[in-house]
Amino acid sequence: MSEYINITLPDGAVRQFSKGISALDIAKSISEGLARKILAADVEGNITDATRPIEHDAHLKLLTWDDTGGKNTFWHSSAHLMAEAIETMFPGVKFWVGPPVDNGFYYDVDLGDQSITEEDLRKLEVKMAELAKQNNTYTRKAVPKAEAIQYFSEKGDEYKLDLLQGLEDGEITFYTQGKFTDLCRGPHIPHTGFIKAIKLTNIAGAYWKGDEKNKQLTRIYGVTFPIQKQLDEYLHMLEEAKKRDHRKLGKELSIFTLDDDVGQGLILWLPNGTVVIEELEKLAKETENEAGYKRVVTPHIAKESMYITSGHLPYYKDSMYPPMEMDGEKYYLRSMNCPHHHKIFAAEPKSFRDLPYRIAEYGTVYRYEQSGELFGLMRVRCLHMNDAHIYCTKEQFNDEFRAVNDMYLKYFKIFGIDKYVMRLSLHSPDKLGIKYVNEPELWLETEAMVRNVLKESNIPYVEVQDEAAFYGPKIDVQIYSVIGREFTLATNQVDFSQGRSFKLQYNTSDNKTDTPLIIHRAPLGTHERFIGFLLEHYAGKFPVWLAPLQVKILPISDKFMEYAKSVLHQLKKADIRAEIDERSEKVGKKIRDTELLRVPYMLVIGEKEMNENKVAVRRQGKGDLGTKNISEFISEVTEEIKERREE
Ligand SMILES: [Zn+2]
Ligand SMILES: [Zn+2]
Repeated sequence: MSEYINITLPDGAVRQFSKGISALDIAKSISEGLARKILAADVEGNITDATRPIEHDAHLKLLTWDDTGGKNTFWHSSAHLMAEAIETMFPGVKFWVGPPVDNGFYYDVDLGDQSITEEDLRKLEVKMAELAKQNNTYTRKAVPKAEAIQYFSEKGDEYKLDLLQGLEDGEITFYTQGKFTDLCRGPHIPHTGFIKAIKLTNIAGAYWKGDEKNKQLTRIYGVTFPIQKQLDEYLHMLEEAKKRDHRKLGKELSIFTLDDDVGQGLILWLPNGTVVIEELEKLAKETENEAGYKRVVTPHIAKESMYITSGHLPYYKDSMYPPMEMDGEKYYLRSMNCPHHHKIFAAEPKSFRDLPYRIAEYGTVYRYEQSGELFGLMRVRCLHMNDAHIYCTKEQFNDEFRAVNDMYLKYFKIFGIDKYVMRLSLHSPDKLGIKYVNEPELWLETEAMVRNVLKESNIPYVEVQDEAAFYGPKIDVQIYSVIGREFTLATNQVDFSQGRSFKLQYNTSDNKTDTPLIIHRAPLGTHERFIGFLLEHYAGKFPVWLAPLQVKILPISDKFMEYAKSVLHQLKKADIRAEIDERSEKVGKKIRDTELLRVPYMLVIGEKEMNENKVAVRRQGKGDLGTKNISEFISEVTEEIKERREE
C-alpha cells in the first residue's frame, strides 16, 4: 500500500507525493532545470541532504546557491573534497573539522612531519578539480557509535575519536565521496560535479580546539563556486578590496592614525578625517532637523545605578570598560547613549502633545573589544554614533518608523549605495521570559508593525527567527560597497521595555498615563565604520562635498603666485576648501601628486589664465575641463557641494 505525504512549498502551495520521496525528486517533478541547481533542502526548518527521503508531511524549501543554507552546504562539501585531495597528496594526514565560513571554507589538518606550501595549494586545486569531475555522490551512512570508534581507532585518528566522545549513540553518520570517508553530521550536496571553480586561498596555523596549550594544526582555506565566472568576479573583488583597503587609504590620505600611547582601538582623527566627520555631522543635523529631531548633549560617563536600571549591568558588562571609583561611587564609560537620552525624556513632564519626542546626538561610546578583534576603523574601542531615540505612542509608530526608513533611503541615495538589505530579527515564542521580555502580544504586534512598514516601503528584507534584542525586534542594515563587499551599517531597534525600566511616562489625551514606545536608530552608524566603508566605496576619491581638500591651485611658476593667492582668497570666501601647491616643481609633477591625494579639482594657472583672469580646470579622473572664469568655477562647485553630488 503506497502512502502519501503533504508537502507545503514556500508559496503556500500544498502538493501530495509518495512517502519517502526526496527533495531532489520533488524538484525534478517541478523542472529538470531546477533540479540541477538544488544543493540541499530545508525540511521543517532543518537543512538536510536533498537526496534524503522525506517520511512525513513537511514544509519544504529547495535550497540553491542563492540561499545561505545552500551555499554553506556547497562549501562544507567542498571542504570534504579538499580533504580527499589532501589525503592523496599527504598520506597519513589526520583531520579535525572543516566548516563553511563567511567566504568559503577551511579544514584543520594534522600533517604530521610533512609541511604544505603555496605550490602544494595549486596542486591540490588541480586534484580537487579532477575529483569533482568524477561526479562522486556524497553518500550518507548512519552507524552505531561502537562501529565508528572502531573505524577511527584502526585509522589511528585521535581527532575524530575525540569528536566521537561528545556524540550520542544513534546519531552518528559517515559521509563518503570517492575514496574519502568522514565523520560528519552533514548535510552535503548531491555530488561533487556541482563544484566547478576552486581556489585555495590561504594556509594558517590554528591550535587544536582554539587552545594555545594544544598542538598547532594547519588550517587550509578555500573558496569554491558552481560557475567559473563567479570565482573570477570574487577574485577581482578581493583584488579591488586590497587596493581600497581603508587602513592603507586612511594612511595615504591622512584620515586617521593610531598611537600606542593612546591605546589600542582608540582612533585619532587627523585634520583630513575630521573634515569628513564634520561634513557627515552637518548632513545628519540638517536631515534630522528637517525630520523634527531636537539635539542634546550628554556626558560620556554615568553611575553604576543607571546601567543597572538599563540592564547593561550585568548583561552587557563584558563589553564595557571597567568602572572608575570616585566619591565612593562607581562610574562607567558609557557603551550606549540610550540611558542618558531616557533621562532627558524623564527630565520634564510629558503629555501626548509632546510626542513623538525625537532627540539626537552624535554620541561617543566606549566598548571593550578584545585586542585580537580590533581592526582598523571597523572594530574599535571608542565610537561616535549617529544616535537618536524616538519616543512615541503605538499609534504613531508606523509613521515614525517609516520616516526612519525614508531617512536611510535618502542617505543611500546620497552615497550611491545601490545594494542593501534589512535583516528583521524576531523573537522566539519558546524563549519568552528567558531571552526575551515576556510580552507575547506586544512582540507579535510590534513585529507585525515593522514588517508592515518594510513591505510598504518596498525595502528588501529578510526575516530571522530568534535573534531579536531582549526588549524588542531589531533591524540590522547591511549595505554593499561598489565592489560588492557587505558591511553591517547600523541597527534599528523597537523597544517596548526600556521605557518601563526607566519609568518613562506621558499623560494621555484622556488624562491617564502611559509608557512610550522607543525607537533606537542610527542610519549613518558610527563615524568609524561608516568612514571605513566610504574609503573603500569611493576608493578614497570622496565626492567634492566630503573631500578634505576640494581644490588645489597649481601655479606653473612662481611668477603667478600673486594671482594664485587672489584665486585662493576668492575660493576661501566662497567656503571652498583650497590650497596652493607652492613647490617649485614642474606642473606635470604637481598634477600627478594632487591626483594621488585624490583632490577633486585642480586649477592650473599660467600666463594666459592670469592675463584673462581665468583658471584652467582639471577634474580628478576626468582630466582637462577647459578654462573658466573664477566666478563661473566657484558657482559650479558651490552648486555641486550644496547638492552633495557624487560627481
Ligand atoms: Zn561534512
Ligand atoms: Zn539606543
